[in-house]
Amino acid sequence: MSGPATNRIIPETVLEPPRQSSSVEEPREAAPGVAMTFDDGPDPIWTPLVLRALEEAEARATFFAVAPLARRYPGLIRSALGNGHRVELHCSRHVRHTEMTRDEVEQDARAGLRDLAEACASPTLWRPPWGVCAPWTQEVAADMGLGLAFWTEDTHDWRGDAAGEMLDGIGDDIGPGSVVLMHDGLGPGARRKGCEQTVALVGKLSRRIRELGCEPRPMSPIPHVTDVTGGADSLEGK
Ligand SMILES: [Zn+2]
Repeated sequence: MSGPATNRIIPETVLEPPRQSSSVEEPREAAPGVAMTFDDGPDPIWTPLVLRALEEAEARATFFAVAPLARRYPGLIRSALGNGHRVELHCSRHVRHTEMTRDEVEQDARAGLRDLAEACASPTLWRPPWGVCAPWTQEVAADMGLGLAFWTEDTHDWRGDAAGEMLDGIGDDIGPGSVVLMHDGLGPGARRKGCEQTVALVGKLSRRIRELGCEPRPMSPIPHVTDVTGGADSLEGK
């Protein structure tokens, strides 16, 4: 016996799969983040290409900017921010904090924050040049409300290796919370003439991150790694 006829009167809309268009986006939203980070820009040639590669990969990333370059190319900073990326502080002068006094480090950060603010960025993270901290770096960062930011995976892209080699070097070592170091500019110590291999790595790395069940997105405002001892000597080219 069939039940009352009213039970079979179901509005057709109820039978439609709900929010069909978001079925691809939802797993991405829920996936844990891996941060692709780019130091030493903005660069008028390479930053736009990195931004385009990120857009094609539908990936969001973090740029640790050199403040005087941000002042010189504010449009690139705005473009990064407008595309959903984060812009954080790298430095004003690309000098190891151990080679500066406490006052100089403080001055460097203060000037950097001012320059970045003029380009509409409001950093919450600070990655010191070469990841090298002086005994006073942490204190200066805290005074300025900045978290120190390092990395867990180094592509060594400044050496000029091919994108495929860099991806092989990373392997499957990335997972939730990983922070990958790359460069969208040619900083001191760079042994390459351009960043094209970094540009090429963006899409490949984004795919790898997703294969591993994660999603490329900007670095968390809370620093993933805080290692104030920062290995100095082996960190050439950051
Ligand atoms: Zn650097």
